[in-house]
Amino acid sequence: MSAFSAQTRDLHQNSFVFDAHCDTLGHATSHEFVRRDLLQWGESGHLDLPRLRAGGINAQIFACFPGLDRLGANATSGALQRLEALYDLIDAAPDQITLVQTGADLASLSPGGPIGAILGLEGVESLDGQIRLLRTFHRLGVRNIGLTWDPRNAAADGSGAGTTFGLTPFGRDVVQACNELGVMVDVSHLNDAGLEDVLAISSKPFIASHSNARAVFAHRRNLSDEQIRGIAEKGGVIGATFASHFLNPDYRKATLDDLLDHIDHLVQVAGVDHVGIGSDFDGCLPPPELSSGEKYPAVTAGLLGRGYAPEDIRKILGENFRRVFLEVLS
Ligand SMILES: [Zn+2]
Repeated sequence: MSAFSAQTRDLHQNSFVFDAHCDTLGHATSHEFVRRDLLQWGESGHLDLPRLRAGGINAQIFACFPGLDRLGANATSGALQRLEALYDLIDAAPDQITLVQTGADLASLSPGGPIGAILGLEGVESLDGQIRLLRTFHRLGVRNIGLTWDPRNAAADGSGAGTTFGLTPFGRDVVQACNELGVMVDVSHLNDAGLEDVLAISSKPFIASHSNARAVFAHRRNLSDEQIRGIAEKGGVIGATFASHFLNPDYRKATLDDLLDHIDHLVQVAGVDHVGIGSDFDGCLPPPELSSGEKYPAVTAGLLGRGYAPEDIRKILGENFRRVFLEVLS
């Protein structure tokens, strides 16, 4: 953190930083990536235990995406392998990282203490169309469920499907079961009609863990002002993401400044209590200023540079996600 000013370091270290999305577990399983040991500072990729620490991250949602090659078949084993990778990491360093399953677990975290890991599903392919398996994944510790990735699944159509269908009856059951069990619903990747349905039926606040603003860059993965307002009115939080492909029409030109433009817009539309960060580290190409986990304080420096008050920066860095998870986790 020595690359940053004393003011940035001080504010960042004394903030509760909550990152709502990473795909790091995919890098710890062997079937899709070169396997990395998450105990070591990696030469490739974006996050591991040392770089979570160096970035000052206090809580991290680890997505269990089935794997690009396992969306059609074997999705359950793909997600379970990633889930097991997090358990491996926690077993290997229990004093440094701990599983968050309850509000009390989350409330017990503090800057300097162990990092709180929240397990998430990215897409419900791994439920194999069986709502009972949602209970199984809940028993295994999953507390955040993204309904879809880009394509269609049994619950809904992702924004990449290019369709205008809403949630299926199974998708509605998933939202209801999440509401009942105390699992966060996550609408990043979902298409517009599906998001409208979640807004209509969810009895709890929900999140978009890694999505930017469509008014800044009109990409299907970014949210319209109406959607941003809807999520905020419901008490939810939107995580601005570092993914260059959603930051700037020319992803090669994406910068930290683009991310700050998206955050500014999200704050303007949703209000400062409903905006957070979901890096998408290890699942995206981030801008150069945010090339790896230890660069996280660059966001804090950028927000200070744009004149945000320290208390508002703390909300964006993590207090907002912390609040909404405390509300939803039982
Ligand atoms: Zn994603």
